[in-house]
Amino acid sequence: MSNKKRKIDSECGVFKYQWEDDYFCIKWQNKGMCIICKETIAVLKEYNIKRHYETKHKDKFKNLEEKERVEKFNFLKKILIFNKIYLRKNVNKTCLLSVLVIELLS
Ligand SMILES: [Zn+2]
Repeated sequence: MSNKKRKIDSECGVFKYQWEDDYFCIKWQNKGMCIICKETIAVLKEYNIKRHYETKHKDKFKNLEEKERVEKFNFLKKILIFNKIYLRKNVNKTCLLSVLVIELLS
């Protein structure tokens, strides 16, 4: 994990990077996206994101160690990013490759 500064922002509709760790949700095109089931969460509010995680995935992930969680998160995120970029039309393959290399090395 990089040690980039975690954003602390209490405004509504602003994605908090803490949600990545807590709820397996990433920011995707100004929305939230659950990287476990790839469902989009249109409203960027903790309540919505938390509710999604707790109703659908909590049971499966609650027993994971912190380290396992992080590994699982990173793994799922890479797959998601790969698929998103790969499935995009008109994608420049050279560009795709460099993005992947950067993603996999990070
Ligand atoms: Zn989900």
